[in-house]
Amino acid sequence: MDFGKLFSKIFGISKYHFEEVHIDQEVIDSIIYYAKNADPFEFFALFDASIKNKILHIDNLFFLPGETSEEGAIIKTGMLPVMTSNWGSVHSHPGPTALPSGTDLATFAKTGLFHMIICRPYDENCILTYNRYGEFAKYKIV
Ligand code: ZN
Repeated sequence: MDFGKLFSKIFGISKYHFEEVHIDQEVIDSIIYYAKNADPFEFFALFDASIKNKILHIDNLFFLPGETSEEGAIIKTGMLPVMTSNWGSVHSHPGPTALPSGTDLATFAKTGLFHMIICRPYDENCILTYNRYGEFAKYKIV
């Protein structure tokens, strides 16, 4: 493990500057799949991403241990959520609105740079995205 990189991920987040967010189509497809699958319960995952040329590129999802998901096994150590949690999160609302709750806003502020909520009926039009302050954020599917 590269501890220098880990250290900067945990403590150097303020220098993570980006002007655009790109998300892989596959990630969007997975989110829709897992949100539908979890209904009537919420699904929650963290983003894995990288920043290059001022673009935050989200290319993977991580599931926290204990979440009901086949992918839960991806996270085996306590370290991984710490490393990945700074990028952001996605969760579903098994309801008609993708606006954040008070708890959501508190979580956004703590867990990363970019956050997504998807509500019923779980398609691309049901997705709203936010920055860590709970303000609407734009993204591009690539
Ligand atoms: Zn929520």
